[in-house]
Amino acid sequence: MESTDAEAQILSNIRFRDRFEWLRVQNEMKSKYDVVILGAGHNGLVAAAYLGRAGLSVLLLEKNDYVGGAATSQKVFANYDARLSRYSYLVSLFPEKIIRDLGLNLDLRRRAAASFTPYVKNGHHEGLLLSNVDEEQSRRSIAALTGNDTEHKQMKKFYNLSRVFAEHVWDTMLEPLVPKEEFKRRFDVDDVSREAWRSLVEEPLGRAIERYLQNDLVRGLVLTDAKIGIFTHPHDPSLVQNRCFLYHLIGNKTGEWKVPVGGMGAVAYELEQAARKSGAEMLTNVDLRALDLDGKKCSVEFEVDGTRHSIDARFLLVNFGRNVLAKFVGKLYQPHATDEGSVFKINMLLRRLPKLKATRYPAALAFCGTFHSDEGYEQMNLSYGQARRGCLPNKTPCEVYCHTLTDDSILAPELRSQGFHTMTLFGLDTPWSLFARDNATMRKLAERKFLQSMNQWLEEPLEDCLAVARNGHLCIESKSPVDIEDALGMYHGNIFQDAPTWPFVATKEKAGTWGVETEYDNVFLCGSSALRGGAVSGIPGHNAARAVLAHV
Ligand SMILES: Cc1cc2nc3c(=O)[nH]c(=O)nc-3n(C[C@H](O)[C@H](O)[C@H](O)COP(=O)(O)OP(=O)(O)OC[C@H]3O[C@@H](n4cnc5c(N)ncnc54)[C@H](O)[C@@H]3O)c2cc1C
Repeated sequence: MESTDAEAQILSNIRFRDRFEWLRVQNEMKSKYDVVILGAGHNGLVAAAYLGRAGLSVLLLEKNDYVGGAATSQKVFANYDARLSRYSYLVSLFPEKIIRDLGLNLDLRRRAAASFTPYVKNGHHEGLLLSNVDEEQSRRSIAALTGNDTEHKQMKKFYNLSRVFAEHVWDTMLEPLVPKEEFKRRFDVDDVSREAWRSLVEEPLGRAIERYLQNDLVRGLVLTDAKIGIFTHPHDPSLVQNRCFLYHLIGNKTGEWKVPVGGMGAVAYELEQAARKSGAEMLTNVDLRALDLDGKKCSVEFEVDGTRHSIDARFLLVNFGRNVLAKFVGKLYQPHATDEGSVFKINMLLRRLPKLKATRYPAALAFCGTFHSDEGYEQMNLSYGQARRGCLPNKTPCEVYCHTLTDDSILAPELRSQGFHTMTLFGLDTPWSLFARDNATMRKLAERKFLQSMNQWLEEPLEDCLAVARNGHLCIESKSPVDIEDALGMYHGNIFQDAPTWPFVATKEKAGTWGVETEYDNVFLCGSSALRGGAVSGIPGHNAARAVLAHV
């Protein structure tokens, strides 16, 4: 839809309201707060809501001109009223307890299919279609791929391990940390639990995948959950792939990923409202200048609109990553190799869904779950090796989602009636180092590669289905790890700020902590950099609030 005068008026009103809000907050701003939160990502908002409700005065300071961080919906393409989840898009790890505690009105919607993986067999285009609800559908589809029922049975056995793991772990995520040995004892109850512990915690995930599964496509399907967002391979001795896998499978004990109705911005909006209702104040467009921390006092200096401010706080919560914090306290940030980000995200607006070469499957069915391309197990070993050697992989593994097939409320009615859809591509094995030297050139190359990957399965190129802006540009936007770091501060574009952590601590000394503590007694991490952080979960926000409340 072309933008109208009315729309322009709404936008300018919003800008006016922002400015008005800013003047109001600036006038009312105190010189001292109980808690200052640096960054207003969704976790900062969760922490603010809990602390405000506990009666503490809270101020959030955000560098961008919006709140929500990586949990945001934006009108990415100027002439079209389509609000895309620009970074994160699916929810699984957000605990029911936080939704209840904060009275959030969230509608998380199940997708009609879990996944679709196209493949070629005997010269014919086919697809592996897995269901979220219809086990028989999944069985038939796996049997059509492999020739018998063994792989389906084995896959069920394999996923039973993560189900058992989730049963033991999920409820502990909002509690103080437990030492590894004690955690292990909790699994020492039956053979399946012991096997879950061994396969998911003690040995590289690749071993269990290869022990349980034989088919390359099925193995690859499982492996993607261990690779999303990070740069790793099945036998990585760091076990970062195991940690990443666990976070993708334990959410609310089911591990199901759902579409937030209204887009990810609806989640941030609900949290923003909860934080504001609790009395929290927020400033955007903040240029943070200096932090003065000594364990007892916290002073924060920042500028907005050219005016310098200095504010004291009893507690400081840090929503951005440890990398950004290190810069402000003048310390050298020493990342682990596993902290490297490795994601390429493409946001698209389509005039119509493309038809598939696998003609048995309507596009609306194939694209409503997770559409996998070039994600075979051996294929991903190859692409990882090529990226490790500093090259863009020949075949770039990726997953594609069409959220408007589950929730079209993010499109204006005119776009809906004309058959428009949003499409998101999440690319793997594209580490930050590939883009560090010449981001613009590499971004273009990577975008082309990912579209090629998709086009091999389509009757018509994806480019032909893209909406076109008034200036003639195709409605496609790509974000490399360099772009993600620029926009949000996430270290080397790591979508979880840094490598995912275990849900327990290695030693007894840290037992009983919340995983949010820093070297300063009154400074806590409240974002994805905390232990058990990462993803749209609100968990570190909740846990940081609990740590502060334990002090007061
Ligand atoms: C492309 C992409 C796709 C993803 N997909 C999913 C998904 O589908 N599902 C899922 O669960 N997770 C997903 N994730 C991960 C998830 O979005 C993040 O882990 C989560 O949103 C982080 O939330 P947070 O509040 O901890 O931090 P952030 O969202 O990183 O918020 C930190 C805030 O700090 C601000 N900030 C940074 N520097 C400064 C500064 N100097 N001064 C002031 N403010 C500053 C940032 O602007 C930001 O608003 C994805 C992430 C990305 C990038």
